[in-house]
Amino acid sequence: MKLFKTISTHDEVTCLHGTIKKFGRSFTFNVYYVDGLLIDTGPMCVKDAVLEFAKDVQPKQIILTHHHEDHAGNAAALSKLLNIPIKLCKLSADLLQNPPSIPFYRRLIWGKKLTAVHGEIVETSIETENHQFSIVKTPGHSTDHICLVNETNGWLFAGDLFLGKRLLYGMKGESIPQLFTSVNHILDYRFDTIFCGHAGIVGHGHEALEAKKKFLQTLISETTSLYNRGWSEDKITKKLLSRQSAIQLFSGGEMAPKHLIHSIIDSITTSNHIQSIK
Ligand SMILES: [Zn+2]
Repeated sequence: MKLFKTISTHDEVTCLHGTIKKFGRSFTFNVYYVDGLLIDTGPMCVKDAVLEFAKDVQPKQIILTHHHEDHAGNAAALSKLLNIPIKLCKLSADLLQNPPSIPFYRRLIWGKKLTAVHGEIVETSIETENHQFSIVKTPGHSTDHICLVNETNGWLFAGDLFLGKRLLYGMKGESIPQLFTSVNHILDYRFDTIFCGHAGIVGHGHEALEAKKKFLQTLISETTSLYNRGWSEDKITKKLLSRQSAIQLFSGGEMAPKHLIHSIIDSITTSNHIQSIK
């Protein structure tokens, strides 16, 4: 494994950006620091680099956007080393007190085992010395996902809500209809910069997220219309997300385009959620 890291700043925010090269592929992660607050903690396999960054910036508290190992991976170690509290929402706390086992391919990339995390529950806002951040529940990518917004400075700490203007594949268990609702909800806030868990610092963030919303909206409506015409999940996936993705093979099918389509069809068959977002 090779790690390439850079540190960049935007306004008062400092970002540790890492690219891990493994198996001929690149995987990125970002850890953010602002005004005493560390936002996410990176994956276990880069623990030393994250600890070094944290020792430099000296955070007073940690917040987690969701329970995935590439965000919560070093939370317990950092909290212990720096003697600082971890803040997280109730759903993340429930998941992380006895962390679920990590799918095989994610273990290969990010590290073997997630240490249990115990922290203080925060549900609506978190304060630092000079700023206040609204905590916005944004399920879809995972059930426990939250974002942090500071409208005064136009900052959105988006965890894995954004990732890019479009998605080519999804993770098993991810819900596209829920993600659409969450993206729509966060767009009610005023922000201009997205601090993304993987894509890094994204300028014109509101427009970028609008583009993501349009992509999701189109994917949902096209899937719904083809499904209603009797098309199968496989056929819809081939038509709408035809590009072959290497990650599908690499992950043993755990990450694949069909999971995006499946979650939309699942939503049509289990509720009338699709109707309500049109
Ligand atoms: Zn995630």
